[in-house]
Amino acid sequence: MIFVASAADAPSTPGAYALALRLDAPLDVRIGKISATLPAGDYLYCGSARGPGGLRARLSRHLRPQKRAHWHVDQITAVASLLGAFVEEQGDECALNAALADLPIPIAGFGSSDCRRCAAHLRFLPNGAALPSRWENARKAARFT
Ligand SMILES: [Zn+2]
Repeated sequence: MIFVASAADAPSTPGAYALALRLDAPLDVRIGKISATLPAGDYLYCGSARGPGGLRARLSRHLRPQKRAHWHVDQITAVASLLGAFVEEQGDECALNAALADLPIPIAGFGSSDCRRCAAHLRFLPNGAALPSRWENARKAARFT
């Protein structure tokens, strides 16, 4: 696992990622008929990139502010600041998400409508909450590259 500060640093191979996003203000989001308010704070969203251009192309899309809303997370990336992304080449989004099981789920079903394993692919990251050590190590290593 590596931590990248921008899409350009991500490999163009397939894999899984967790976007680290920050909302400076509460955000109203909709999934299907349900609307909910995400409090300000930090979030991790797990996804996977299997298409052409791999992780780099997918992260670039997430970072583009102007795009047609396609995934639930597009509502967040349209306004959030991106802190970076945890990236695992050949990784699995549900495995990444499972590693974050201790973190609260802000909205059931968010980002996981096509997933049978996870209650949501979005987690709230409370201020000062610790990530799994593999994740913390990736984040520390990124500071020195
Ligand atoms: Zn899943």
